[in-house]
Amino acid sequence: MNLEMQFKKTLKEIRLSKKDKILVAMSGGKDSAVTAYLLHKFGYDIEGVHIDLKMGKYSKDCYNAIKTLCENLGINLHVYDVKKEMGSSMCYIRSAVQSKHKGKIKNCAICGVIKKWILNKVARKLRFSKIATGHNLDDEVQTILINIFKGSIDLSATSGPITKNIKDKKFITRIKPLFYVLEDDVRNYAKKKKLPVVFDKCPCAIDSYRIQVRNFLEKVPGKEKQNIMKNFEKLSPKIKKKNIEMNYCEVCGEPSRGKICKKCELMQI
Ligand code: AMP
Ligand code: ZN
Repeated sequence: MNLEMQFKKTLKEIRLSKKDKILVAMSGGKDSAVTAYLLHKFGYDIEGVHIDLKMGKYSKDCYNAIKTLCENLGINLHVYDVKKEMGSSMCYIRSAVQSKHKGKIKNCAICGVIKKWILNKVARKLRFSKIATGHNLDDEVQTILINIFKGSIDLSATSGPITKNIKDKKFITRIKPLFYVLEDDVRNYAKKKKLPVVFDKCPCAIDSYRIQVRNFLEKVPGKEKQNIMKNFEKLSPKIKKKNIEMNYCEVCGEPSRGKICKKCELMQI
């Protein structure tokens, strides 16, 4: 099945509607560019959001790529300036969090938590019904393995091309239309369509556990990565037992599994 057919099949599986108002989280990379490009091509109601992390040239290149893509396609783009809205650049936030937690929390984990928190808040404020991200099959297989290696497969209970088991009016459902597409196929598609994209990796992604798992998976053929996902999906009904109860964070009011959300837990410095 080619990439476009797989993309459409996934949208059908998650019952995405033309009435949905979708906010595409755009990083400047190939995955979110292809996600926006295809949702637009297939006639969905989308707008883009980019969190400008203020990380020097890398951030500027990402912003320019997204701006060009959105202008070319006529997609309305929202830009969230992390320095303006949170008071500091992502580099500063990260080093403050790390010195508080004595370096135990890796760069990507900090950035990921903060980005998710921002995306949910922005999407709700702008009244979107879905948030689309560019996560591909390689990302998802890495996540499953990380959860298995770290001994918390329950964390995968909400994973899938659409978030499951979370029903809360303040939580915006997240979709991943490239969930079943291999990273190499996304890369080739972005190149074939000549999409403006930054192919470089984030300069701060240096010490994450995910990178170790990614390297470990490098020699695994695509077919076997697909098998990992197929087998996980056979097992997953056993861990998806009940809806996850959401609280509201005592500090910021955002939906949270605990009393205080992960972002506030990190940021209480
Ligand atoms: P990553 O965690 O960097 O692999 O990114 C996963 C997905 O999160 C991307 O495909 C985007 O949809 C979204 N994303 C990452 N970084 C940003 C950003 N700076 N602004 C908006 N969305 C982002
Ligand atoms: Zn909070």
